[in-house]
Amino acid sequence: MNSGALDPRDWEAFRALAHRMVDDALDRVETVGLRPLWQPLPERVRTSLAEPLPLDGVGEQAAYDAFRELIEPYTNGNRHPRFFGWAQGCGTPLGAMADFLAAMMNPFAGGFDQSCVYVEHRVIAWLAEIMGFPPDASGVLVSGGSMANFIGLAAARDARAGRDVWQDGLQGQGPPLVFYASDQMHGWAHKSSSLLGLGNRAFRRVPSDAAGSIDILALRAAIAADLAAGARPFCVMGSAGTVSTGAFDDFAALAELAAEHGLWFHVDGAFGAWVALSRTHAHLVRGMARADSLAFDLHKWCCLPYDVACVLVRHGADHRRPFGIEGSYIDPAPRGPFSAGLPFSERAVELTRSFKALKVWMSFKALGVRAHADAIEADLAHAQRLAGLVAEDARLALACPVISNVVCFRYLAPGGLSDDALNRELMYRVQESGEALVSGTTVGGRFSLRACFVNQRTTAVDVELLARLVRRLGDEIAARAPDASGAAP
Ligand SMILES: *Cc1c(COP(=O)(O)O)cnc(C)c1O
Repeated sequence: MNSGALDPRDWEAFRALAHRMVDDALDRVETVGLRPLWQPLPERVRTSLAEPLPLDGVGEQAAYDAFRELIEPYTNGNRHPRFFGWAQGCGTPLGAMADFLAAMMNPFAGGFDQSCVYVEHRVIAWLAEIMGFPPDASGVLVSGGSMANFIGLAAARDARAGRDVWQDGLQGQGPPLVFYASDQMHGWAHKSSSLLGLGNRAFRRVPSDAAGSIDILALRAAIAADLAAGARPFCVMGSAGTVSTGAFDDFAALAELAAEHGLWFHVDGAFGAWVALSRTHAHLVRGMARADSLAFDLHKWCCLPYDVACVLVRHGADHRRPFGIEGSYIDPAPRGPFSAGLPFSERAVELTRSFKALKVWMSFKALGVRAHADAIEADLAHAQRLAGLVAEDARLALACPVISNVVCFRYLAPGGLSDDALNRELMYRVQESGEALVSGTTVGGRFSLRACFVNQRTTAVDVELLARLVRRLGDEIAARAPDASGAAP
């Protein structure tokens, strides 16, 4: 029997506690929809969590009791069936159990000749198939869409900079590098342009049209202007599912433009790339598979537990260029476990990494990709249903047409009341009600409620409940509003 310094003192007692942990955790998820979606942390809990460094332990049981009392109940609610905010996934029990199994194995999943490496290779090939990428495309699982997109932009920079970035960085002489995306591109691009030494001035934000898609003529003009000014365009990026309104760029047009100018074509498909699995909406990603790199989350619309995302890169050599590994301690080995090298550590920033691929492999294998496709289809139908409920109520209005799984809508303020102020107040009241959650965004310069459907637990009843809640709370705010024009409620 193992009895390492940090292993259980009493395996039998620990086994019993571990079984209880599993049972309690499953109970909490099974009944998550019966409890308030969100509640603020009580002062008592905040104070208890601000404890000093525990030099001596209280034992596993006491630590678990503290977890149950202070930690587990106070989440932001994204597991709940009526969580419609931002683009947060709800997770799955099977995915969580796979994470547990992976953590028990605790393999160094950067490489080596071991099962987890072959599982990840397989998972990447499956994901490439779903997204229409070639079977031999390179890929890696990372912590999220931000990191996956970062890797895509890093590969783009090093492939198309026209200089040896690995050796010289961007210190050498050369024309300024510039890249393009619409003004709807997610905030990861700001971080990444800074981290990759490009700077945010290199990030050309191209206007989007009323639907939220990149204006191709404006993009053409921007590239021409940069070329005329002596800059070096190296990459154009598209969005599959913009974070604000769920819009899609015209990928076929972007692919043409990229080919014409020798640019790298990257797509941020954090949640929206998954409409590739939809019977009704797959046309939105037409041309996406022509990208040189594609980033997408598995912890949003694929519903697996945090954290896991994937980046696919068409050519392996391009993928590895920014992530080379040097050092005598990792010399290639002709035999032994290291003979398989470090394929995944050569495709991302991390050297040591966890076995994220297991939850993907297990979910696809156990439930089938069809079950995931059905969940995605149901979310698209929920968005349509909410749009219908909004359309048939004179007090509500869509802020823009529904393109995919995002619905932006407003409660129409009665005369003399500021629409933005009312809807902002309404968003907070929905969030604080604990019954459902929506977030907000700005559409056409005006504040709007925003419901994003990436939740496999949502039912049609939940959507109706949301519409009723919004009407009821909106009515309350409108009834109590002062008459003064433009006054906040
Ligand atoms: C969420 C999101 C990201 C960032 O992904 P993370 O997993 O949160 O790092 C990037 N782009 C879009 C469109 C997103 O919705």
